Amino acid sequence: MKYCDLHCHTTASDGSDTPAELVRQAGAVGLSAIAVTDHDTLEGVGEAMTTGRELGIEVIPGVELSVKFHVGNMHILGYLVDPDCEELQKTLAGVQKARAERNPVILERLKGLGVPVTMAELEAVAQGGQIGRPHIARVLTEKGYVRSVSQAFELYLKKGAPAYAPKSILTPEQAIGVIHRCGGVAVLAHPFSLGLSRPDDLDEVIADLAQKGLDGMECHYSEHSKEFTDVCLAIARKYGLIVTGGSDYHGRAKPYIKLGRGKGGLRVPCSCVDAIKRRAGRV
Ligand code: AMP
Ligand code: FE
Ligand code: FE
Ligand code: ZN
Repeated sequence: MKYCDLHCHTTASDGSDTPAELVRQAGAVGLSAIAVTDHDTLEGVGEAMTTGRELGIEVIPGVELSVKFHVGNMHILGYLVDPDCEELQKTLAGVQKARAERNPVILERLKGLGVPVTMAELEAVAQGGQIGRPHIARVLTEKGYVRSVSQAFELYLKKGAPAYAPKSILTPEQAIGVIHRCGGVAVLAHPFSLGLSRPDDLDEVIADLAQKGLDGMECHYSEHSKEFTDVCLAIARKYGLIVTGGSDYHGRAKPYIKLGRGKGGLRVPCSCVDAIKRRAGRV
């Protein structure tokens, strides 16, 4: 059996491995394929694909788009999108602008809360990649204001916390639309993060997304229990969605998540890659 990991971050967003390091790591742990799915950017895809060709590891181009949602966090993965698609590039530029405008708002709030972080400190930890809340959390930790990245999210940065500022400018419909028009397949990332504990509520949201063109669900995920995975698989089947899986690897930024294995129990078969390709009409 061949295995893959269809949800990985690099230094292009909030992961700690460069795209080349990520692909080498995938080879080291015996994966046949990986998808590079950085937050709101395709910057890491080219380098990863080059290294993948050198090492004989299949690299699926991807992107993870944050979209508006009223309860928890909704992220939509776009697989096999054309990196040169003008509409996608414009969309990502818009989201990146919204991110750039959001960071100073968060920093201003942190200053007011007595835990100041500067833009220079953020740029130093982001090493040229796109800045997100995990970088802010790291600086807060390094400066001793909090004990850990998770405490930084709990006390200051998570949705509803005092320094939180929203950034999503896309609706789920817009995200699915641009992914499709740029040749890709739209998959709902980590359904648990929607914050819907009742299966019926999840069913209702997925029914709506499926009607808007959603192609798949990331049923296999590091933070999903066996029970929740089964709920996701049943809903995916009900709405004719493909099933994918990934660890949400971030390297040292989330050391408890291992590439390809998540918290230890994850296994994503390469049949998921075939399902994505079939859905995209590539095979
Ligand atoms: P942003 O893209 O700036 O909205 O930040 C979102 C990212 O922060 C997610 O994709 C995760 O990588 C990370 N994140 C969100 N919540 C937490 C948390 N409670 N602890 C650690 N990392 C988190
Ligand atoms: Fe992340
Ligand atoms: Fe995500
Ligand atoms: Zn992710």
